[in-house]
Amino acid sequence: MKVFKFGGASVKDAQAVRNVADVIKRFCEEELVIVVSAMGKTTNHLEELLQLFFDKGDWKAKLEWIKNFHLEISKDLMEEDEHELYDRIESIFDSIENYLQKAEGKRYAEVYSEIVSQGELLSTRIIREYLNENVRKTTWIDARKYIKTDLNFTDSRVDWDMTKKNLSKKIPSYTKDGMVISQGFIGSNSVGKTTTLGREGSDFSAAIFATCLDAESVTVWKDVPGVMTADPRKMPEAIVIPELRYNDAAEMTYYGASIIHPRTIKPLAQAKIKLYVRPFTEPENIGTVIGKGHAAKHPASFIVKTKQVFIEFGVTDFTFINEKKLSIIFNALDQHNIKVNLMQNSAVSFAICIDKKFDKVERLTESLKDEFDIEVREGLELLTIIGYDDAALGSIYHRNEVILKQKTKKVFHLLYVPEKKHIELTAQKANQK
Ligand code: ASP
Ligand code: MG
Repeated sequence: MKVFKFGGASVKDAQAVRNVADVIKRFCEEELVIVVSAMGKTTNHLEELLQLFFDKGDWKAKLEWIKNFHLEISKDLMEEDEHELYDRIESIFDSIENYLQKAEGKRYAEVYSEIVSQGELLSTRIIREYLNENVRKTTWIDARKYIKTDLNFTDSRVDWDMTKKNLSKKIPSYTKDGMVISQGFIGSNSVGKTTTLGREGSDFSAAIFATCLDAESVTVWKDVPGVMTADPRKMPEAIVIPELRYNDAAEMTYYGASIIHPRTIKPLAQAKIKLYVRPFTEPENIGTVIGKGHAAKHPASFIVKTKQVFIEFGVTDFTFINEKKLSIIFNALDQHNIKVNLMQNSAVSFAICIDKKFDKVERLTESLKDEFDIEVREGLELLTIIGYDDAALGSIYHRNEVILKQKTKKVFHLLYVPEKKHIELTAQKANQK
């Protein structure tokens, strides 16, 4: 069995869906599980809808817009005036409206997962119909019935035992005589409420399916030719890395390479399942393969993480930052499930750099405000260069205000205030070497 994952960009309109079907056609004799994200920027639109709902804005107009977006794609694909798919879409949007009308007083995170998960439910309904009519018999399954998580509604953790039990019981019989399509990003908790695995979490879903079903490989079909040494939109000199070891790939995602979701690698590495990153526009290209491999020297990789927050915790009592104070900070980070991208201490303060995510910064600073003088700086960017050398360092040209610079043996970090443009990177020298 193989697991394929298609992200939002690969299914952003009807033409894109047709292309996905062409890619799948090449493999349709195989046992396939296909994991799909929401179409285009739907997840962002659903997040905006939610914001409007909580701000008491015109959320109904937004909902209508999202509905029409999906209806138009469906009509383009089905080419019929009447199709039960259209009724199904209408009814999904009726339920969203009904749900929101009764959502007052519910926790944001709960409403978030219920609403934002609809993007994947819609996209897979539409694509299933198209594949079924044009490629091969395709079974639609609701990932929430199989992927079980903890009680956190967002960024939820997977209950692997339950999930494996659920998936291995049913799915192999479905893939015997056709393909299976399911949603990325979503699951449900022990009381059956919808949960989400974190933004861009569909890659991780694909890894969950693959691991629990003992698949031979996962292929993530992307709008880039493979894993690259930098984001080619920001750095045209970027090149494809043909082969990566699990560890190297995990390290890149840890520092923010957006090519694959950070939680994807570990389960695949443990189960020794290969991960291919391939371009959906050129399906004959092999892209990047991530596996056990040998330690090869790669060219320096440049990663820019946006929406960074720098928080400095200063002591209030004329003492020094000691282990006790550090443990207070680390406990709070753990409690709020916050990942630290960079840290630095001095005699009287401890500083961290974290992602701006939900209300985590506010909750963290609120919980520590009695212990420390806290300073927060938002809207920053973090550049990481993995495997840097003099040429790579020499290639960075910028006029930005630098907040923090750090260098370990292999990794270089620069936290800075972005100008209107991203930091100007010219890696020519680095990659020509
Ligand atoms: N649709 C979700 C998101 O945009 C999950 C994903 O695309 O992987 O974050
Ligand atoms: Mg997406």
